[in-house]
Amino acid sequence: MTITDTHTHLYSEEFDHDRDEIIQRAIQAGVSRFFIPAIDSSCTQSMYDLEKNYPHNVFLMMGLHPTYVKENYLEELQHVEDELAKRKFYAIGEIGIDLYWDKTHLKEQQAAFKKQIQLAKKYKLPIVIHCREAFDEIFEILEEEKSADLFGVFHCFTGTYDQALQAMSYNMKLGIGGVVTFKNGKIDQFLSQIDLEHIVLETDSPYLAPIPFRGKRNESSYLINVLDKLAQIYGLSQKDIASMTTENSKVIFGI
Ligand SMILES: [Zn+2]
Repeated sequence: MTITDTHTHLYSEEFDHDRDEIIQRAIQAGVSRFFIPAIDSSCTQSMYDLEKNYPHNVFLMMGLHPTYVKENYLEELQHVEDELAKRKFYAIGEIGIDLYWDKTHLKEQQAAFKKQIQLAKKYKLPIVIHCREAFDEIFEILEEEKSADLFGVFHCFTGTYDQALQAMSYNMKLGIGGVVTFKNGKIDQFLSQIDLEHIVLETDSPYLAPIPFRGKRNESSYLINVLDKLAQIYGLSQKDIASMTTENSKVIFGI
């Protein structure tokens, strides 16, 4: 069984003291493919170090996270462009709009999102979207930028059924993780109506640990708990869910 974690911040300092153990534990559980979203230029070197240690398991993205769009965002975007010109990445991410923490830089967040969508088109890469309390703002830009060559993942999807359909209409798959196991997570109530071909798995570790680890540090091996929940929702075996969602990840990321 090959399980794909399409969104994990494995380079996070929260894993500094036991990163190798966590990766081994994940691989033993069948989670052997890790897609790594970028945050800002300060994490680039640790992402490269991670890739160097696990070249067969780790696939890097490049991008500027919306909550890190600040006064210096043009410099940060230049860093993204420079790295993209230098070497291979598997997606532009994570990018988008986050109005939960701070609305001060909405204009800059919108500009950075648009700019990075255009980079994705230029490099023929998928985008990985971070959306928090910003569905309208995200959809507005996707509507402007939509095209056959724009595709990707709506990471940590927590919207309604209608928002799921809208995301899918822009060639986005839904990234499903720990939230699907939460009692108040809501997406479990309509997910069975969404064809599995639109779903990929993710932890967003170290954040958003599934039940029974909710509130603790998340890690990729916990994806088994998400797999288990999806198997119940779809009435399929864990093995089937694993192989179908891994296939979907290959379609998106090209590996
Ligand atoms: Zn993330």
